[in-house]
This record gives sequence, structure tokens and C-alpha cells, in this order.
Amino acid sequence: MKIVMLGAPGAGKGTYASRLSKRYGIPHISTGDIFRENIKNNTELGQKAKKYMDEGLLVPDELTCDLVMDRISEDDCKKGFILDGFPRTIPQAEALTEALSARGEKMEYALNVVVEDEKIVKRMAGRRSCPNCGAIYHLVTLPPKKEGICDKCGTPLVQRADDKEETVLKRLSIYHEQTEPLIEYYNKQGILHEMSGDADVDKEVLRIAKVLEA
Ligand code: AMP
Repeated sequence: MKIVMLGAPGAGKGTYASRLSKRYGIPHISTGDIFRENIKNNTELGQKAKKYMDEGLLVPDELTCDLVMDRISEDDCKKGFILDGFPRTIPQAEALTEALSARGEKMEYALNVVVEDEKIVKRMAGRRSCPNCGAIYHLVTLPPKKEGICDKCGTPLVQRADDKEETVLKRLSIYHEQTEPLIEYYNKQGILHEMSGDADVDKEVLRIAKVLEA
């Protein structure tokens, strides 16, 4: 099963992708996570990507596309995969379609997670993360037991540079300009389905699972 998640940053693509990945036993591939892992390990790719990410800008296609194409060629992707955060531009989507078609394959489902911009800003502004183990908290909806400290490893929590309000607003405007056209791109291929990013997660996963398993 080959799935691509669409939707604004902070809409909840990652949450759904991780649930579907477990349900179907296929890898959840998040380009944001791959870049963050590279930043943590201070790789050359990480150093290049960080400049763009901290500003809320997209990492250039030449640093992004090959990385994803290599990842989906790995053995664990033979049964399928879920892409989360890629493609983010029409050229990325075209590169993906071409790479799949060269293998006689195509994308099967595009799941568009919908949430109003205003809610996204509130969500992301309250988000805190652990720089050590990656755990995510929210000041209002998921606070840590001890204020400002990670429950899992005791490290002081931080606000990711790209979760700051002005950066979130910039990311949303880039989303509308460069990523939203992908909805129409996949709609034309007849594989688009909508999901609510504002619903009960369990119920929404079950609802979409019926579509995927029909
Ligand atoms: P995410 O965790 O998906 O919100 O991604 C965090 C950041 O990584 C984004 O704001 C971009 O700077 C960068 N990024 C992730 N995926 C892509 C992509 N497909 N194209 C360009 N930049 C990306």
C-alpha cells in the first residue's frame, strides 16, 4: 500500500501516518524526521537543511528528492510505505511519480488532513519538544508532569525554532503557495481522500482504514 499524507504543517499528518504505519506494517517516512536526525548527528545534509528549517523555509528539492527516492528503494518499502512531509512541491510530486513509474508502480492513496490555519497556529505555538529523545508535549493539551521537563528522560524541553509563531505563519503561507496545489495534483489522479485533523484520532483512523481496505 503506497500512501502519501497531505496537509498543512501541524495538521496531524505525522500522528495518522504513524498509526497507519503500525496498522499495515509499512514504513512511515517523514522527511522532517530524516532532516532532524541529520541535524542531531551533525551530518553535512543536516548542516545544509538546518538553515532552511529554522527559517521555516523549504529545503531545496535537490537535497530532498534523491533522499526520498533512495529511501523508498530500500527492502522494507517493497510492501509499500507512507510518505509524511513529501512531496511538498509540484516538482517533488512529479519526481516521485516518475521514479515510481520507472518501476512500473504508482501512488495509491493521497490522504489530505484538513485543519483551519487558526487552530494550527494555536497548536504549534504550544508545542514543546525534548531535544534529547524527541518526545513531543503541548502546554495545554499534553503538558509534561513537571513543568518544562521531559517525562521520559528528564531533559529540559525546548520550543523548536520552526514552531515559533512567526515561523509557523511563514510555514503556513509557504504551504498554501507551494504545497496546497498537490491536492489538485492527486485529485486528478483520482486517489485523493480527505481526513479531519480535528477529530478523534482512533475514530478517524478506523474510518479511513475502511476506505483503504475496501
Ligand atoms: P515537518 O516535520 O514535515 O514539518 O518538516 C520540518 C521542516 O523540514 C520543514 O519546515 C522544511 O523546512 C523541511 N522539510 C521537510 N520535508 C520537506 C520537503 N519535502 N521539502 C522541503 N523541505 C522539507
